[in-house]
Amino acid sequence: MSVPLVLLALVALGVIGAILMIPVLRVYRGTRLVECPETKLPAAVKIDAVRAALTVFGDEPSRLRLADCSRWPEKAGCGQECLGEVERDGASCLVRNIVAEWYRGKFCAFCGKQVPEVKWNEHRPALLAPDGVTVSWKDVKPEGLPDVFSTHKPVCWDCHVVQGVVRERPDVVTVRPDRKHLYS
Ligand SMILES: [Zn+2]
Repeated sequence: MSVPLVLLALVALGVIGAILMIPVLRVYRGTRLVECPETKLPAAVKIDAVRAALTVFGDEPSRLRLADCSRWPEKAGCGQECLGEVERDGASCLVRNIVAEWYRGKFCAFCGKQVPEVKWNEHRPALLAPDGVTVSWKDVKPEGLPDVFSTHKPVCWDCHVVQGVVRERPDVVTVRPDRKHLYS
């Protein structure tokens, strides 16, 4: 076989491999909230999606492994029994699905409008903490979600942005008198 043909065959194999792996990578990406079998408390875990995807090329059964856990590095040597929960229902424990489900049908604590369906890669809604400050999801640890859901209120993205400006640049924001109660 000539060199160009070998290269072409390798590229074709690479493309086929990627096509086979991508669906598995999609299934196993993202942070998940599980109950740690040892503590019975929430733990945030990530699946080794690349390892899971590579099993499509072998005869081995798809044995999942963790890539990260909120209890690591202290408990990095654990038996990873929580993977059973992921194998049973991997979609339900996906943090982005849990968050989207919590917001579904809820109304913003400031403007009173229904929070739009959460799209994880777009403008995400935020939370209103008990101290009156809005909190972005990037500042919330996934393992703290159950507590956050019981103590915080939903806030739409627009109001979260306005709140940030009101808090940081009160000199450039004029809040209409009839809305002042919302921003105090
Ligand atoms: Zn709002």
